[in-house]
Amino acid sequence: MGESIRERILDLLRPTPAEWADWKWHFRHRITTAEALARIVPIAPDAVSRLAAVATKFPLSITPYYLALVRDGDPDDPILQQSMPDPRETALADLGEDDPLEESADSPVPGLVHRYPDRALLVVTDICPLLCRHCTRKREWEFGNWVRRPSEIDAAVEYLRATPTIRDVIISGGDPLTLDNARLGDLLARLRSIPHLEIIRFGTRFPVVLPQRIDAEFCRLCDRYGPIWLNTHFNHPNEITPEAERAVRELLRAGVPVNNQTVLLRGINDTVEIQRRLSRELLRIRVRPYYLYHADEVRGTEHLRTPVERGLEILEGLRGHTSGLGVPTFVIDVPGGGGKIPLLPNYVVSWTDEELTVRNYEGLTFRYRNPADDAADRASTAASPPSPRLARRRQRSDTARKRS
Ligand SMILES: *Cc1c(COP(=O)(O)O)cnc(C)c1O
Ligand code: SF4
Repeated sequence: MGESIRERILDLLRPTPAEWADWKWHFRHRITTAEALARIVPIAPDAVSRLAAVATKFPLSITPYYLALVRDGDPDDPILQQSMPDPRETALADLGEDDPLEESADSPVPGLVHRYPDRALLVVTDICPLLCRHCTRKREWEFGNWVRRPSEIDAAVEYLRATPTIRDVIISGGDPLTLDNARLGDLLARLRSIPHLEIIRFGTRFPVVLPQRIDAEFCRLCDRYGPIWLNTHFNHPNEITPEAERAVRELLRAGVPVNNQTVLLRGINDTVEIQRRLSRELLRIRVRPYYLYHADEVRGTEHLRTPVERGLEILEGLRGHTSGLGVPTFVIDVPGGGGKIPLLPNYVVSWTDEELTVRNYEGLTFRYRNPADDAADRASTAASPPSPRLARRRQRSDTARKRS
């Protein structure tokens, strides 16, 4: 056909440049049916009804901006794979759980997840401009399109006010930036009236799927109610566009550090090569890779999950090979409410009281002397009996001396 996906979208929807720059226009023109999608991307006629069937269980929603990033002629396009329903979502639906992280069990009031001692997650809506096929909150989709009621927000704010151990609140969703600036401003003002809340974070994918949302008014709010941090969710270097770069630049100008949480996805970003490029591109636009999540065990996402080892291979391929600033922490979020647990490639070959044998990123091994906890005591209290650990150490070095 010759025409690119972007051109087809522009032909079909005919936005003015001002409309294309307006996040609300994109929001209103989200692609939400398999039929509408098939008018833009090549989908075999018999596949359309299959996708439509999947979408009755796990709905579909793609912003025109994000869909325009799809490169024509690639059935494995990473943008398409993150946004287009897949028959395997329902075929493999017996694997995975609806609420693997048991967030409902950690909610003292509706909408607030308080799992860690000093921070809490405030879920203000379940609406997202783009429904990611790998979403951990996929279970929420069927209840569809709610924004938390003012009375529930009141209860959450009161819980936060009454819980002085919480110093970090994460405004999350869904995507909290689907709320307009007036509502967000109101929420920020109320949170800021709680003296023990030191930092506020946003968890939002808007910089990736609809960067037009990061407008001057939102940045003013962040500046006014700061310190505010923003965590976003780039998964692939193709998502790093001039529009995304502009959004990040405006956030940074408003004093908002931007960090990234990537989900490791089979066939999308599960190679060292892609992750290195992603890391480099993120640093170039001044976004710090924060977490690399192993994909959670969620019903309808099994086809996108990799073995845990893949994450460790990727970390191996990053550490030492690229800027340390660009190496995220690899975490699994364990079922049963255990929270995030970091995993690291094993760089330790052997470990004793005296010495570690370690290997570096090139696979070379090195020995590293392990200082004793009581080395200082040894000099100052030579008269007192040595600790058992020190006694063992001395005995061993005596034996070694005798041998040589
Ligand atoms: C991830 C998460 C947090 C924040 O964790 P950090 O490691 O501080 O980024 C807080 N609460 C819940 C429930 C979470 O899942
Ligand atoms: S932006 Fe986050 S919450 Fe929204 S669909 Fe994607 S993964 Fe789920």
